[in-house]
Amino acid sequence: MNNFKSKEVFEKSCKLMPGGVNSPVRAYRSVGLVPPIVKKAAGSRIIDIDGNEYIDYVCSWGPMILGHAHDDVINAIKAAAENGTSYGAPTENEFILAELISEAVPSMEMLRLVSSGTEAAMSAIRAARGYTGRDLIVKFEGCYHGHSDGLLVKAGSGALTAGVPDSAGVPKDYSRNTIVAVYNDIEGLKEIFKSFGNNIAAVIIEPVAANMGLVLPDYDFLGQLRSLTQSYGSLLIFDEVITGFRVSFGGAQGLYGIKPDLTVLGKIIGGGMPVGAYGGRKEIMEKVAPLGPVYQAGTLSGNPVAVAAGISTLNTIKNTADFYSRLDCLGEALQKAYVEAAARYNVEIRINRIGSLLSVFFNNNNVIDYNSAVKSDLKKFKKYFSAMLDRGIYIFSEL
Ligand SMILES: *Cc1c(COP(=O)(O)O)cnc(C)c1O
Repeated sequence: MNNFKSKEVFEKSCKLMPGGVNSPVRAYRSVGLVPPIVKKAAGSRIIDIDGNEYIDYVCSWGPMILGHAHDDVINAIKAAAENGTSYGAPTENEFILAELISEAVPSMEMLRLVSSGTEAAMSAIRAARGYTGRDLIVKFEGCYHGHSDGLLVKAGSGALTAGVPDSAGVPKDYSRNTIVAVYNDIEGLKEIFKSFGNNIAAVIIEPVAANMGLVLPDYDFLGQLRSLTQSYGSLLIFDEVITGFRVSFGGAQGLYGIKPDLTVLGKIIGGGMPVGAYGGRKEIMEKVAPLGPVYQAGTLSGNPVAVAAGISTLNTIKNTADFYSRLDCLGEALQKAYVEAAARYNVEIRINRIGSLLSVFFNNNNVIDYNSAVKSDLKKFKKYFSAMLDRGIYIFSEL
């Protein structure tokens, strides 16, 4: 595939933007390639400025569940834009999107719209701290909750020590308030709670972890997590930025039947426009300004064009019969094809899948947490990635 134009634009971009991009994974550093510079997209395909067409498995990292440039969504965006792109004042559509979300995810009795998943997760943590009057939070190694200071934290030297910054520029004083636990390790979590439980404001988790490749929760891990947090008066925050409206219309919590205290959403609820949301039990959300003392605000929160895209996306899903069972069938077919191809060429792989979320690991062991995920063969992954791209299949550039 020729990529002359992409190369040229990327080289110019690299002089002006860090890594040539506005979000690091797009730079293809981990696979050592020049990223295709996208010109446009429709349905399942994206086309780069050199005219190469790709089947898009990335879907903008989650939001484009209906495919690119879906007619209904585009029409909703056009209609909204014609009436003005921002008012800084309330609109009826914000209520309609909030109602759609709350009906689909009933644990979100009250919610607030923001402009990104990062903002939503950061604000949910603040609400949890404001409600409980406690400072400590627990997150899991390999889970991603956006790039706010307190969440860019990795494990300290021992299981029961405070976290340390996972990025330059994060003060140690911030990371001290974050404890990093091991995904699927309920015993480790119990130890953490034994030592710090009465000071833990919240545990934040991706109920299905999709940022270290895909890692599924063990049977009853989430159930035990729910009762553990409850017994210490700590809140449980589900970060469903990926899983929300992806694994079911009610998210992972609907699928597994577990009710968190707070939920964080993003990606799909904006239908490709910048929208995030956080919400949960009413008495917690009543702590948020202007009702309560927890401050959080946003000039473009509930933006009319973004909200229109979100409403249209959620309604389209809602009104499509068998939406999720069809996604599951497609995911299953893809999994089968991977398994057959790997067997044919005698390549050891492990696949984790739930519905349309699927990860292929070049790994001899089951992937159940961060440690097992990073033991995957990166060399093989690079080769696979570049061969896929050559064949016009655009996949995730990182685990
Ligand atoms: C993408 C993601 C975020 C961050 O959302 P942004 O809109 O990129 O800020 C947070 N949590 C999870 C689980 C995500 O996948």
